[in-house]
Amino acid sequence: MRVAIIGAGHAGGTAAFLLRHHGFEGKIALIGEEPLAPYQRPPLSKAYLQGAMTRDNLKLKPESFYQAQNIDFMPGQKAVRLHRGKRSIEMEDGSEIAYDALILATGCRPRRLHLPGADLPHVHMLRDYRDADRLRPALSGLVIIGGGYVGLEVAASAGGAIVLEREERPLARVASPELSRFFADYHRAKGVEIRTNMSVREIAPDGVVTADGKIPCTAVLVSVGAEPNLELAREAGLACADGVVVDHAARTSDSAIFAIGDVTWRPLGRRMVRLESVPNALEQAKQAVAAILGRPPPPPEVPWFWSDQFDLKLQIAGLTWDADRTLTRGSPDAGKFAIFHLQGNRVLAVEAVNSPAEFMAGKKLIELGSIVDPERLRDPAISMKEVTAS
Ligand code: FAD
Repeated sequence: MRVAIIGAGHAGGTAAFLLRHHGFEGKIALIGEEPLAPYQRPPLSKAYLQGAMTRDNLKLKPESFYQAQNIDFMPGQKAVRLHRGKRSIEMEDGSEIAYDALILATGCRPRRLHLPGADLPHVHMLRDYRDADRLRPALSGLVIIGGGYVGLEVAASAGGAIVLEREERPLARVASPELSRFFADYHRAKGVEIRTNMSVREIAPDGVVTADGKIPCTAVLVSVGAEPNLELAREAGLACADGVVVDHAARTSDSAIFAIGDVTWRPLGRRMVRLESVPNALEQAKQAVAAILGRPPPPPEVPWFWSDQFDLKLQIAGLTWDADRTLTRGSPDAGKFAIFHLQGNRVLAVEAVNSPAEFMAGKKLIELGSIVDPERLRDPAISMKEVTAS
């Protein structure tokens, strides 16, 4: 049995480790376009960008691990085509790699802005460690286009920047209005200038041109979201939406091909979604490996995410879509609070700032679908242990 994995990122690397961990003795080819062994991307906008972490420390495992585990790790090599009929991968150098099971873990790339000046040399994007290496010396005098998580994290790492957001609030697509307000206020107090409802028209060598005039700067980071690397799947005729369509076992429309991580369009409850997070990459790696090895499927996990900005640790679990109300426990003024999203008296999601106990207990409540007493949940004098026990 030969398993090939295209994409040696967080999802692909984890799938390779898990296959061996569960005793798989066949061949594993781990194909990665980047020169580095699978590594974590979250520090690229945080500790690594700040220079507080080395490149070696980013790696999930040292190179020697792959050799020791008999994983054929192929760095710096790009897969260019799938031949599903003969179950083979065509590589950029013309060689072919045969598989019995294939895992697509090709991740995402930053969304580009189609504006005049978007290709100028002082315009940055942030997806891999080389992007972070180029961005680090440009952090002072930076304008960031896009007030999502990555944009705000870079602003915090830079210790100040101008953030231009198209919507009326930062984190508009990914956080509740109350949480957005808190982060906007916190950033402003720390010297980050957040300008909302901004329409960028052009990037000039000396600034960003908006509908309201030119904002001078020496460097620009475009951080307006990510797009899945779908080309291989699409050209091979696999079902795709805003990602490669997979089921709960991470299986694509071809039963020999799985897809995991940022590149997938996956089921979650009654919906299909694309989740860009490390926990999602790990969950789907477990699903694919279980299906390939004929093991019992792993239990479904509550989706979660984290972000570090200044001295704030944000942890989010669950999905807010079907919630009909929110309640806040703790104090935003003290920088320590949690916003719970409820449907009736059932917790669907929690956004926790510097509140790990609320996050952990909230995640458990979501998982169990428990009914809570909202008044007790709101009261920080009652511990989360007591709230979950009642
Ligand atoms: P990736 O890690 O992107 O790996 C995909 C790999 O596939 C890449 O190395 C790519 O080069 C390779 N590849 C693509 N096509 C081919 C091909 N044809 N042939 C060979 N190789 C190919 N998540 C969190 O949960 N918390 C955070 O705080 C957080 N912060 C982040 C900060 C930044 C700056 C970024 C960029 C992401 C952050 N994320 C965070 C998201 C998280 O890093 C991703 O969800 C995770 O990396 C997804 O893993 P993946 O393996 O699916 O994709």
